[in-house]
Amino acid sequence: MTIRSFNPPVRTLMGPGPADVHPRVLAALARPTIGHLDPAFVAMMEELKELLRGAFRTRNAMTMPISAPGSAGMETCFVNLVEPGDAVVVCVNGVFGGRMLENVERAGGRPIPVPGVWGRAVDPNQVEDSLKRHPEARLLAFVQAETSTGAQSDARTLAGIARRHDCLTIVDAVTSLGGSPLEVDAWGLDAVYSGSQKCLSCTPGLAPVTFNERALDKVRARATKARSWFLDLSLVMGYWNGEGKRTYHHTAPVNALYALHESLLMLAEEGIEASWERHARHHRALRAGLQALGLELIVPEAERLPQLNSVSIPAGIDEAALRARLLARHGLEIGAGLGELAGRIWRIGLMGHSSRPANILLCLGALASELAAMGHPADGGQALTAARAVLDLDGASD
Ligand SMILES: *Cc1c(COP(=O)(O)O)cnc(C)c1O
Repeated sequence: MTIRSFNPPVRTLMGPGPADVHPRVLAALARPTIGHLDPAFVAMMEELKELLRGAFRTRNAMTMPISAPGSAGMETCFVNLVEPGDAVVVCVNGVFGGRMLENVERAGGRPIPVPGVWGRAVDPNQVEDSLKRHPEARLLAFVQAETSTGAQSDARTLAGIARRHDCLTIVDAVTSLGGSPLEVDAWGLDAVYSGSQKCLSCTPGLAPVTFNERALDKVRARATKARSWFLDLSLVMGYWNGEGKRTYHHTAPVNALYALHESLLMLAEEGIEASWERHARHHRALRAGLQALGLELIVPEAERLPQLNSVSIPAGIDEAALRARLLARHGLEIGAGLGELAGRIWRIGLMGHSSRPANILLCLGALASELAAMGHPADGGQALTAARAVLDLDGASD
């Protein structure tokens, strides 16, 4: 076997993540590595935290990227906030809510599931009922943007219910951050985690988190140590927040953090609200094209996530074969269904740098041609015309 340098094929990423990474972000990764305690690096980290506060819409001092993927952001919240014996109400309307249950258990807590419907938002009435039945609960955990189904839950309303029942919130914003409205301070969210590779369009492997003072008070009041050394906030804080006297905790992924800095700078340049609007507009364009192809979205309109579109598979189509054709012939990746929805849906992501007109047109054209080739009549011309009408390509600059 002769092993050569790895050169990945050219792909367009329209699955549930990672999303396409902008060349500016890839260029940032290739800059020279410097020491992670170098004053120049420390100054970059300070900017990075400020950029993250802008994206999360918070003034929380404790806002930083965990040096590991989104799942580690999830664990950071649970291992620090859940103490052995704590009752935690967990909303489960997809795969990631299920993982939250696991996290509560492993942190020694007592999970109280609120079972939801896959493909629907979390029902605030069910959450209210559960908190009434369990006055001992001190935490409410939910996923704002369920990437496994494409449903968006109302984080503001759920946080309001939690507050009335004297509970802190743990919120999964992995797919929402940068792509749809998220207001950490205005909505009173207590501990929020995200990921670098979804709507921030950075490379995978970093998990931005933010904790407010209420959440940190619970961490500081712990009677027992967090059940993870690496993710123990009291230790990580010494590295990210040790003003002037930063102590070694682990070696930061230096170049990956350059990339996150660049991707957040790009988001700030665009403006976070403009980014939310772009994701919403491109969702409408894709939806118009999919409708013209006779494809249906499974999530009711009011609960739909613009950056992740779950599409029913037409009868008689081999869904894995279609995805393989898209990849092989069009260089296009879309996602399969997960869990309960495996084999029933495709997941088409429009996240970050992937959310752009050229990708929408590529995806609709590729779907139309492969559906037709597999015996499912589909009018690609009509789909492109429908999407173009929403994009207003002849007038717009993007
Ligand atoms: C992708 C994702 C995660 C996990 O992030 P990784 O970077 O894959 O570990 C968690 N929650 C949601 C909602 C996600 O979409």
